[in-house]
Amino acid sequence: MARSSVIVIGAGVAGLSCALELAERGVGVEIVERGRALGDGSCSWMAGGMLAPWCERATTEPEVAAWGAPSIAWWAERFPQTVLNGSLVVAQSRDAPDLARFAARTERFEWVDGERIAALEPDLGGRFRRALFFADEAHLDPRRALAALAAKLEGLGVAIRFGIELAPRDAQADIVVDCRGLAARDALPDLRGVRGEMIVVRSPDVSLRRPVRMLHPRLPLYIVPRGNGLFMIGATMIESERRGPVSVRSAMELLNAAYALHPAFGEAEIVELGADLRPAFPDNLPQVRVMRRVVHANGLFRHGFLLAPELARGAADAVLSLLQSETNHADLPQRRHA
Ligand SMILES: Cc1cc2nc3c(=O)[nH]c(=O)nc-3n(C[C@H](O)[C@H](O)[C@H](O)COP(=O)(O)OP(=O)(O)OC[C@H]3O[C@@H](n4cnc5c(N)ncnc54)[C@H](O)[C@@H]3O)c2cc1C
Repeated sequence: MARSSVIVIGAGVAGLSCALELAERGVGVEIVERGRALGDGSCSWMAGGMLAPWCERATTEPEVAAWGAPSIAWWAERFPQTVLNGSLVVAQSRDAPDLARFAARTERFEWVDGERIAALEPDLGGRFRRALFFADEAHLDPRRALAALAAKLEGLGVAIRFGIELAPRDAQADIVVDCRGLAARDALPDLRGVRGEMIVVRSPDVSLRRPVRMLHPRLPLYIVPRGNGLFMIGATMIESERRGPVSVRSAMELLNAAYALHPAFGEAEIVELGADLRPAFPDNLPQVRVMRRVVHANGLFRHGFLLAPELARGAADAVLSLLQSETNHADLPQRRHA
């Protein structure tokens, strides 16, 4: 492998974003990925692709909204198919108090009534009396977005070498950016996996323009339109590191949510069932950690696409300061992502 100044290990959303941020800043970089193709073995392939900082604010730390909001423009610039239609949060009548509780914990939304819901999403007309509309949120198709980042990298002369498994200590480079996701646990022992399961269905009888979240006391779920009649239904969040196929219970809950949103989903075809482990630190926030010549960028948890741009900025800053530093072989203090 040719020596280059920076090697990024891992071609998930973290690795591709870090490499792109570095390449855009003029740093020579290459990527190695153990999978044989983009998405192969990557948690990023399973994501819903919601860019929803204010919806997430209702259940997460304020940093998620602060770091996530600028990512909408980052993606729109690099992936023009990013859909800027906002998102809608609904609840069945019996769960109406959940909607008020959700609203109380966040911002940048408006209450909408049944008439407005029907104007926003005609197929949901008459089905819900009230909803929260987050006009400034966005969504994207994660698989197409990853391909777009890879194409941009190729345009900038950055190679992605597939089928190579590399440990950071073995990389022939001045600086290594470790974006191995959960596989980086050998270096980051406080990283854990949080299981997520999703289902893709095809339903030509339903049309949605934006992600719709269904609040539920036990299992809040969402449906993201992917175009051409495809919908991603996600996602479970289970404190378990069990790998393996989607369980019957999870499949029933995900499909029930779709059916509750619109009965026409009962006739939908199941196209894909998928599961993976989200890499998460104890506080569920991403971090950049610098250890000698290795910059670890990890912990994206359930906010891979939402927070990858901010993580990439932090990682690129760390790489540039290492490259500029005459003492880049010395131990540097741990650096919290900010
Ligand atoms: C069901 C589900 C739904 C989700 N929905 C959303 C959502 O709507 N919005 C959102 O923002 N996030 C979502 N997420 C979270 C998101 O998918 C993750 O946060 C994100 O994918 C983590 O990205 P990553 O690049 O750190 O890890 P990964 O995508 O796992 O990438 C790591 C890469 O490193 C490679 N690798 C590992 N070890 C080596 C090695 N030694 N050598 C070479 N390559 C190696 C792996 O093959 C892999 O490709 C969801 C996740 C799941 C499971």
